Amino acid sequence: MPARRISPNQIVRLDSIPTDYTGDLSKDEAQERLKDLGKEVGDLQELLFAAGDHSLLIVFQGMDTAGKDGAINRILEYVNVQSCRVSSFKVPTPIELAHDFLWRVHAVAPPKGSVGIFNRSHYEDVLVVRVKQLVPEAVWRARYEQINAFESLLASSGTIVVKFFLHISKKEQEERLLAREQDVEKAWKLSVGDWKERERWDDYQRAYEEAIARCSTEHAPWYVVPADKKWARDLAVAEVLAETLRPYREPWLAQLASVGVKAKTELAEYRASLAQSA
Ligand code: ADP
Repeated sequence: MPARRISPNQIVRLDSIPTDYTGDLSKDEAQERLKDLGKEVGDLQELLFAAGDHSLLIVFQGMDTAGKDGAINRILEYVNVQSCRVSSFKVPTPIELAHDFLWRVHAVAPPKGSVGIFNRSHYEDVLVVRVKQLVPEAVWRARYEQINAFESLLASSGTIVVKFFLHISKKEQEERLLAREQDVEKAWKLSVGDWKERERWDDYQRAYEEAIARCSTEHAPWYVVPADKKWARDLAVAEVLAETLRPYREPWLAQLASVGVKAKTELAEYRASLAQSA
């Protein structure tokens, strides 16, 4: 599988993980495979919704231009958007800053039966906040444990958590930033800020390495996705989602069957009572 699952406590060196790995498939084959996997994930989501015992939280992080928007748009092509909510995390508002850093995140965690997709997340509080020294080190350092406790709470309440780091090379980012300048439709994305952040590339990579290493757990794993090629990225994400949800298929079906038996029994009792009173 092209996406690399990070084991708990594994040391992460992003330099040693390729950004352009595409697996064994050609682009056309990958797109065919994505259709099949998308269908499977869509079907599994229907079961998640109907069984109503679990929710799914998908977190996307990555450097600017890594493809968070693109990866999310692709997922929205194969899930049922009626029970799906995308939340984007921007610079916190004064009200958000007046609360603990998880307050705004917890508020949009997906309820049972639904899917939540995070475009950026609580991880910004150990990434940009660390790189730009927005709070003292002791404050952001304590957050790794706080994040693990938070995600553990979500998991024990039925949330299936999966986290993707979209891994692009510095060269690919430069090409994407320059391409934006040439494309009228992408001009709205142009920002001097992106070039300024790029100067801190290495600091961000170190911050990501530590966040991923410290916060990849059994119940909320991090996956590093080679993302220089968009089609390979989308396939890798779909593969992880299918693999993550597949083990729940049988339990969800069993749950639905027992709900069906209960409803039929109630219906039979109701009809019998009608017949008696007639
Ligand atoms: P995009 O996600 O498309 O890049 P923006 O250009 O609005 O959207 O960027 C959102 C900005 O908000 C990013 O620069 C990100 O680092 C910043 N941000 C998100 N969360 C926080 C946070 N907790 N503290 C400070 N900045 C944050």
